[in-house]
Amino acid sequence: MLFQGMKELKEFCIPFSSLKLGTNPFNFEIDKSFFDIFNYSRYSTCNVSLKLDFRKENLLMDLRFHYSGFCEVNCDRCLDLVKIPIENKFNCLIKFLQQDQEIIKDDIVYLPEDSFEYNIGQLFYEHFLINFPKRIVHQKNQCNDKQIKLIDDYSQKQTTTEQDPRWNKLKALKKEN
Ligand SMILES: [Zn+2]
Repeated sequence: MLFQGMKELKEFCIPFSSLKLGTNPFNFEIDKSFFDIFNYSRYSTCNVSLKLDFRKENLLMDLRFHYSGFCEVNCDRCLDLVKIPIENKFNCLIKFLQQDQEIIKDDIVYLPEDSFEYNIGQLFYEHFLINFPKRIVHQKNQCNDKQIKLIDDYSQKQTTTEQDPRWNKLKALKKEN
C-alpha cells in the first residue's frame, strides 16, 4: 500500500523475517504526532500505549494488539475539551499469497510471498478511528454553559443573516427579464 506518510511511520515497521518463531513483544507510544502524519486533527492530546505481540509462525503471523491511555477531544456540545479514557484490543493475521499487492480482508492481511516486513501504522490508525466514539459530550452538567450560549447566539445570527446564493441568482435573472 503506497501511503505518503510511510517514512514518518517507519518506527512501526516490523521486519518480521528477522524475528524468531513464537511471541515477539513490541511497545509503541502513540501521541498527537502520530495522527498528524495522517492529517487527522480531532485529538487535542493523545497519550496511548500500544502493545503488540507479533507471533511468528511458519506460514502466518498472528498479531495481537492491546492499547490503553487517553485522548482529549472537543465536546460536541460546548466545544471545551473532554478527556476520554481509551482501552481496546484487536487481532489480525498476516498470510502470504502469490500476488504483487497487499490485500486486507476480514482482519487478514495478505502480503506478497516475498515480503519481509510489515508496517502496522496504518492498520492501527484505522482501527483506532473506527472504534473511537463518534459523538463526545461532557457528562451531565459538566458542559461550559457560557460557551453553549455563545454558540447558540452565533448560530442564530448565521441563520438570519445568511442568504441562499440561489435566491440572488434568481433575482438577477428577474431583473434581466
Ligand atoms: Zn461539553
